[in-house]
Amino acid sequence: MTRLCYVNGQYIPSTEAMVPMFDRGYHFADGIYEVIIFFNRNLLDEALHLERLHHSLDALRIPAPMSDASLKLVMREMIARHPFNDGYIYLQVTRGVARRDHPFPKTPTHPSLSMFVAASKQPKPEEVTNGVRVVSAPDQRWERCDIKSISLLPNTLARQYSIEQGAREVFLVNDDGMVTEGSLSNAYIVKDGTLITHQADHAILGGVRRNVTLRIARECQIPVEERAFSLEEAKAADEAFLTSANSNVLPVTTIDDATIGSGKPGDITLRLLELYKQHVTEQTGRVWA
Ligand code: PLP
Repeated sequence: MTRLCYVNGQYIPSTEAMVPMFDRGYHFADGIYEVIIFFNRNLLDEALHLERLHHSLDALRIPAPMSDASLKLVMREMIARHPFNDGYIYLQVTRGVARRDHPFPKTPTHPSLSMFVAASKQPKPEEVTNGVRVVSAPDQRWERCDIKSISLLPNTLARQYSIEQGAREVFLVNDDGMVTEGSLSNAYIVKDGTLITHQADHAILGGVRRNVTLRIARECQIPVEERAFSLEEAKAADEAFLTSANSNVLPVTTIDDATIGSGKPGDITLRLLELYKQHVTEQTGRVWA
């Protein structure tokens, strides 16, 4: 399917979109990305995405390709040209084009900005009703997972493993036996009414949904602990769920072969899902079926 793309100033169909051979993103994965959802052509949590974009750019010392005001205009133009009301923008910034050499180029390059728009991939109704199964896998990533880097090979391998195991996602487990997050989502458990998720340090990506979910939980007096939890603790939890741009708040009812709680999506998980949906409706006008 042809998708609308934006590459360094040009709006073009994916069949014509080209990036240069010597882009450092291509040789070194020297770049970062964001995935921003929109409903009713309104961007969701745009400010939080821009904040994380700048965190990632600053961490890699890549200058912003344009001002936030211009970026917002380009994103709105992409959405205006998209045939559907709902979807997501994939946005990528790399250090730009230079002779292939590991250090940063001596003559500063202009960062490359590319985007595409695609139809939104919401969870299937039965995944929400029944919950999903995740499998555990070793966390083989680097020590700066807080940067939303385009270097995603360990995530790709973990995701492939989950598919081969017939699971929706993986819970990545570090060398100490602690669950960090998923291959493309944040991981949570609930025990005795307390919501537990890994602290936002270098071991995980600070998900925009994580940010919103924790705020919502605190607002409605659900106790929150931001700390690592072990795989054993997760399997013995009352509830589990994951969050990401394309999965919202998604109940997890099986981890490997262990049934979580009653085997049905938990009360706190479902409450957070409802409150998250309200948040989406308030920001974008999206009406849920
Ligand atoms: N963790 C990882 C490794 C991810 O790749 C993602 C999303 O792509 C997330 C967490 C969830 O982040 P967000 O809620 O911003 O989609």
